[in-house]
Amino acid sequence: MTPVQFAALCVPPAMNLREALARLDATACGVLLVVQADGTLVRTVTDGDLRRAALAQVPVSAPLAQLPAQAPLSIPDQAPAAAALALMDKHLIDHVPVIDSSGRAIDLITRRELGQRVWMSSPHLGEEESAFVAEAFRTNWIAPLGPHVDAFEKELAAHVGMGHAAAVSSGTAALHLGLLLLGVKPGDTVFCSSLTFVASANPINYCGAWPVFIDSEPQTWNMSPQALERALEWARRENRLPRCVIVVNLYGQSADMDAIGPICEKYGVPVLEDAAESLGASYKGRASGSFGRIGVYSFNGNKIITTSGGGMMVCDDADLMARARKLATQAREPAPHYEHVETGFNYRMSNVLAGIGRGQLKVLPQRVQARRRVFDLYRAAFADQPLLQWMPEPDGHYATRWLSCCTLAGENLDAQRARRDRLLLALERHAVEARPVWKPMHLQPLFAGAPYFEHTPGQDCSRALFEAGVCLPSGSNLSDADLDRVLDLMRGFLAREGGAC
Ligand SMILES: *Cc1c(COP(=O)(O)O)cnc(C)c1O
Repeated sequence: MTPVQFAALCVPPAMNLREALARLDATACGVLLVVQADGTLVRTVTDGDLRRAALAQVPVSAPLAQLPAQAPLSIPDQAPAAAALALMDKHLIDHVPVIDSSGRAIDLITRRELGQRVWMSSPHLGEEESAFVAEAFRTNWIAPLGPHVDAFEKELAAHVGMGHAAAVSSGTAALHLGLLLLGVKPGDTVFCSSLTFVASANPINYCGAWPVFIDSEPQTWNMSPQALERALEWARRENRLPRCVIVVNLYGQSADMDAIGPICEKYGVPVLEDAAESLGASYKGRASGSFGRIGVYSFNGNKIITTSGGGMMVCDDADLMARARKLATQAREPAPHYEHVETGFNYRMSNVLAGIGRGQLKVLPQRVQARRRVFDLYRAAFADQPLLQWMPEPDGHYATRWLSCCTLAGENLDAQRARRDRLLLALERHAVEARPVWKPMHLQPLFAGAPYFEHTPGQDCSRALFEAGVCLPSGSNLSDADLDRVLDLMRGFLAREGGAC
C-alpha cells in the first residue's frame, strides 16, 4: 500500500455514513480507519458496521462518531507478522491497523498478504533439471559420483574459464578442502574478509588455524586492499604470514582483484577465492572465482543457482583438483582394497544433484539478468531518495546482484541502525523477508579476540555496512506484483521516516 492509498483509508470521526460508504467503495480495502486530527486511531469501520447502522435506522447523514463505540483492534509497530495473524484469527477479521507508540495509525496489515510471503532469495528451477535427474534414475547412477558429476565439473570449469573443477557437497566443504590443499595446518594464520557469512571463516577453525579479519572498502563492500597490505606488513613483522588469504566476493560482486592480487603476490601468499555468492559475476571481463589459486562456488538453496545443496572448487592445476577429489572421497589410495594413508572426508557431490546443477548452469545468464533487473527497479524507484544508498558497482565490475542491498542514511550509526530495524519490521509485518547485511566476523562472539584490520585506522567500514545495511527480496523468480508490493511498503516506510519519495 502506498502512502497515498493509506491516507485515503484514514477518515475523521466527523465524516458521515454516506461519505464513509463511498470511501469504502473507492478504496476497496474493506476497512476504513477512523482517526483524530493528530492521527490517533479511534476505531475501524467496515461494510458490516455500516450495514448494522442502517438496520438500526441510524441516518446516513450521521457522523461516524455516532456509531456504537468499539475499541479498535490494533498491533504495535514492533509486532511481527505472526502477532497480526493471531489477532485476525482470534477476532475473525481480515485487517489489523498498526499503531505507533503514541497510538497513531501508521499502517494496515491484510490477511491476504500474510498468506503470500515474499522471500529474499528462493530457489528457481528451470526446465531441464528434471530431464537430467530422470537420466540419473534411468541409468541407475544414484550413487555419489557418476557421469553428471564429471560433466558438471567440466561445464562449470569451462563456464568460468578455469582448467579444472571438483564438485563437492557444499561451498563450506569446498572452502575446507581449499584450505587443506593450500597447506593450512593447526597453528597457521589465515586471513579472511570480515564482512561475510560465517561459512567463509568456519573452515579456518576446522583446520585449527588462527583467523585474522580484514575490513571492507566502501567502493565494493569487499576486502580493503589497504587494510590487507597493513595486515600483511604486521604479519611479516610478527613472523606469522598467513598460509592463505580468503577473499570473499559479497552479494554477487567481485572484490578489487587487480589491487588484491599483487599485494598477496608481493608477500607470497595464495588467494582462496570465496565466490559462493558471485557465480556469474565478472571483474574486468573475467569470471569472478577465477582469480585465486583456488575458487569456490556454492549451490545452496538460496544461491543464484542451486542443486539444493552443493559446492564446486575450480583451479588451473589438474593435480590439485585430483587431490581435492581424493580428499573428498575418504582419501582412498589407488588400490583394489581400501588403502588409506591420510585422513579424508565424505565431501563429494551426488550424481543426482549434479544433474540439477547441469540444468541450472544452462540458465545462469538469465538468472543474473533477472537479479540485476530487480536491483535496477529498486534503484530507479528510489532514485531521488536521500535515505537510501545502493551497493555500488564500480567500473570494470559486473555484479550479479545476488542480493539487492542498500544502506540507510542517518545522523550517526545508532540512528542508521534504528532506521534499518524499523525498515525490517515494516517489511516483516507484511510477510516480506529482508535481512541486515552480514554481521562481520570480527564482531562475532565466535571469533572474539581475533586480530582485525580496519579500512583506515579508526574507520570500521564493515561494521558501518552491517549497522546501516539491508538485503531486500532479490530472487530471479520474484514476480512484478511481489516487487511492487515491496516497493509500496518501502514508499510507506520512507514517507513515515520523512524522506522524499
Ligand atoms: C553460502 C556461502 C558459503 C557456503 O556455502 P554452502 O554451500 O552453504 O556451504 C560460503 N561463503 C559465502 C560467502 C556464502 O554466502
